[in-house]
Amino acid sequence: MALPQVLTFSQSSLEDFDRCPRLFWLRYQQRLSWPEPWSPENDRAVELGQQFHALVQRESLGILVDVQTLGDPLKQYDAHFPAHLRTGQLLTELTLQVPVLGHPLVARFDRLVRTDAAEWWIIDWKTGQSPPSNQTLAQRWQSTIYPYVLVESGASLNSGVPIRPAAVRLLYWHVAAPQTVTPLVYSEAAHTQARQRIEAAVAQILQGTEAADFPLTPNHQRCQTCTYQSYCGRGQQMPEFRLEDAVASKREQVAAGRDWEI
Ligand code: SF4
Repeated sequence: MALPQVLTFSQSSLEDFDRCPRLFWLRYQQRLSWPEPWSPENDRAVELGQQFHALVQRESLGILVDVQTLGDPLKQYDAHFPAHLRTGQLLTELTLQVPVLGHPLVARFDRLVRTDAAEWWIIDWKTGQSPPSNQTLAQRWQSTIYPYVLVESGASLNSGVPIRPAAVRLLYWHVAAPQTVTPLVYSEAAHTQARQRIEAAVAQILQGTEAADFPLTPNHQRCQTCTYQSYCGRGQQMPEFRLEDAVASKREQVAAGRDWEI
């Protein structure tokens, strides 16, 4: 079966392609979703992550939220999230997309803030218990795609004036490390590199037309924790649960209105 004519790419789908081309094929071309059992604990963790997103959104809209009734994640937010990122021009749960080689590339922003200093901050909530380092996060597709999409499409949010890459900050705010506020700073050079990286990946995927073009990863360790292992005859352990990926993936699917988008 060939790939659909119009593909919608996202940080999740490009992460999956890097992890394993066959995973990409199974998940986005054949549209197979979480074939392994999904435990109640995982459901609860995703639910808590979504609940956090919803309540922070309400707070940003000025809807009163009683801190005393909140769980620990929201108490951490209330106590530590920087004041200058709670005011100014706030946009929450916003989806933007730009074309890449004729296909949409989608980014779903938890929060965008235009500060009084005319900086644009992309805020991404992380509700997992083990925060990765900024260095690790910088290498993820999300850190390439989110600033890129904002700069490419941001004029629509900025009275028709393009957003300069140097004005963009990306902050991963971790519930488990609420006092750490160290953003990744974007730049013209990073924007050029982002365009090249994204176009190269999309072009590589578009060359594939059948399963054989999407090989199984040679890294068998990845299979040990892959939710698609039953389709490949690999792996014997319980699949790893990646909360951030699960929450991001579900939110992207909802934003796209379909559960098979890439
Ligand atoms: S089980 Fe291994 S080869 Fe199969 S999709 Fe998962 S990571 Fe790829």
